Amino acid sequence: MIENIKYTTEGLGVKQVREKDGRIILDLMPDAEEVQIAAQLSKVFGIANFSIARKVSSDVEILKREIHQYIKDKEFTSFRISTKRAYKAYPLTSMDVDRIVGAHIKESTGAKVNLTSPGLTIFIEILSGDAYFYTEKPPGLNGLPVGTSGKVVCLLSGGIDSPVAAYRVMRRGCSVVFVHFHSYPYLSKASQEKVQDITEILNQYQHPSKLYLISFGDVQKEIVLSVPARYRVVLYRRMMLRLAERIACEVGALALVTGESIGQVASQTLENIATIENAAGLPVIRPLIGMDKGEIMDQAKKLGTYDISIIPDQDCCQMFIPKNPAVRTTIREIERVEKRLDIEKLLNMAFDNMKCL
Ligand code: ATP
Ligand code: MG
Repeated sequence: MIENIKYTTEGLGVKQVREKDGRIILDLMPDAEEVQIAAQLSKVFGIANFSIARKVSSDVEILKREIHQYIKDKEFTSFRISTKRAYKAYPLTSMDVDRIVGAHIKESTGAKVNLTSPGLTIFIEILSGDAYFYTEKPPGLNGLPVGTSGKVVCLLSGGIDSPVAAYRVMRRGCSVVFVHFHSYPYLSKASQEKVQDITEILNQYQHPSKLYLISFGDVQKEIVLSVPARYRVVLYRRMMLRLAERIACEVGALALVTGESIGQVASQTLENIATIENAAGLPVIRPLIGMDKGEIMDQAKKLGTYDISIIPDQDCCQMFIPKNPAVRTTIREIERVEKRLDIEKLLNMAFDNMKCL
């Protein structure tokens, strides 16, 4: 987490990032960009909450004077002091500090103490040696620090769902490498442009990862020529998983991630999910499996990917889609039709034309 914070606040005036008494402390230079630093911290997974704090001596006399100095121009008619002691050898209890500082603020400002709904809360943290105080405590994203759970490859389609899926596994500590399949030059370049923009948004939450763009049109053409139309989507998807797995091997990823949810479209019946997954040697993680479209859309809006995702494009899976795709395939029947394809040759062909951004 310290590494992630250092990375994301680079160039904003952070002198050092260190751990002390169960806190992570960023020491700032006098001209640090506090607002921007706060904005960056609000995108770091693993942070429950954070504050822009003032550092003072833990001597209670100095503490109360400094706090008064800091809040004297603020407008408030009621307040509360909330002290925490990480340094248990401190001579006063938290309640002592609340009382002493509170009495001083009350006397010097005329404001009332209100413990249940104060106009201003002054938080004090006593650590060994120093104390810190602050008045705001915005929530962080929670979750686990990105990178602590290992690496995954996410199949990013340009649709609404897969960016949300990527975000969800990042939140559980995975760093995510992206792969997109497109049918250019058979279809437009729009999906590639969308996916680049989506990747940029998602990369704000991690050390930027690469986006692999795989030209899939020729693989699809082979499938269209060789197997009955109703099996196309399932076969496209099996090829996608195989290619994603090759990338996973190259980058050391431990699982694949998709934006599937049960029953959303024909390729997402339980039968087809099983048939598709059978082509993958790595676990396929589907963070959205039990979510409704509406819930996924809400998350995409919050994340800021929704408006990009709804830009019309020509998804590669719309190419040569039959009117009645098979909704309940079995592994046996799919393996039978797949025999008509030279899988290895198709995989190599797609892999050789891959671009990496
Ligand atoms: P999405 O909104 O993510 O496009 P979807 O509801 O349209 O999902 P499908 O089209 O069945 O569902 O795709 C299921 C999943 O397969 C996607 O969430 C994505 O992970 C993966 N996928 C589909 N098409 C592509 C593609 N062209 N490139 C990369 N991954 C894809
Ligand atoms: Mg889609």
